[in-house]
Order: sequence, then C-alpha cells, then structure tokens
Amino acid sequence: MTKLTYVLVTHMGHDGPWLLIKALKDVRERRVSIKANKPKHEVPLRLKLLKIIQEPLPLTLRKANAAWVKAYAARDKAYAARDKANAAWVKANATRVKANAAWVKAYAARDKAYAARHKANAAWVKTDAAREKAYAAWVETDATWTKAINSPAGVDFHKQVCGCAWTPKQPDILRQTGGDQSLME
Ligand SMILES: [Zn+2]
Repeated sequence: MTKLTYVLVTHMGHDGPWLLIKALKDVRERRVSIKANKPKHEVPLRLKLLKIIQEPLPLTLRKANAAWVKAYAARDKAYAARDKANAAWVKANATRVKANAAWVKAYAARDKAYAARHKANAAWVKTDAAREKAYAAWVETDATWTKAINSPAGVDFHKQVCGCAWTPKQPDILRQTGGDQSLME
C-alpha cells in the first residue's frame, strides 16, 4: 500500500463540502477531469476555486483534520488486513473444495472396492463349499478304493500282477520271505 499525501482542497465539487481532505493524486485527477469533461465555460471558474490550502488551520480545524488523517490511515490499514484475510480464506476454501472433491471420489472408489470385495467373498464362500463337498465325496470313494484293493479280489489281483510277499496283514514290502528272490534285490 502506497503512502498517500493528504492535502486540504477547496470546492472540489460544484456543490459539495467547501473544504475536503484529499490525496494529492485525487486533486490532480480532478483537475484533469474538469478540463476533459466539464462545459468549456465552467472550466476556468472550477479550476480557480479548486485550490490547495497552504495557510495554517484554526485550532478546531487542525484538531479535526489530524483526527481525520489518523482515522483514515487506520481505516486503510483495517481494509488491507481484511483483504489479506479474505484472500487467505479464498485460498483455503479452494483447497477445501479440491480436498472435498478428492474425498468424494475416494469415497466412491472405496464403495466400489467394498462391493467388489463382497462379491469376491461370496464367490469364495460358494467355491469353498463346493470344494468341501467334493473333498467329502472323494474321501468316501478313497475308502471304497482302499477297501477294494485289500479285498480278496484285490489280493488275488496283486498275486496276478506282482506276486510278492505283500498281504494286507503284512504290508512291509521289504520283508520278502519265500517267494521270488529277484524281488529282494
Ligand atoms: Zn507285491
């Protein structure tokens, strides 16, 4: 914020307060504006009456002027602080909006992932049940198979295709007493 120089100026407008406290740059701009925009015949009088006062002010006006300048500076400072705070708010809000959008997106992705997990779990439960059922069925056939190979028919078939000393009651194939010696090699 640029520090402004304040001056006292008379008749800045044609029917406004006779004496105003104005920034020097505003007075200059007013002069330019009068020349450019006001009717030709008004211009000399307007410029003549618009004067920057150099004379010392009477005490009452001096006090009021000093208070005004001080209050105006405080006002400027307060405006600047407010503008700064507002800019910070705008920035923070933009971040919040962005974060919120990301959150919504992430939440949707999470919901989708949950649904997929749920579906996958249901499939797993179903296939696991099928596996358990198939295993039980196999256990049953395996028992039947074991029973069959140790049945008289199974033992006879062993004699036919192998002929070693193995029997269901003597299942150790390393104990070959009698029978074919070639099997002991
Ligand atoms: Zn055998």
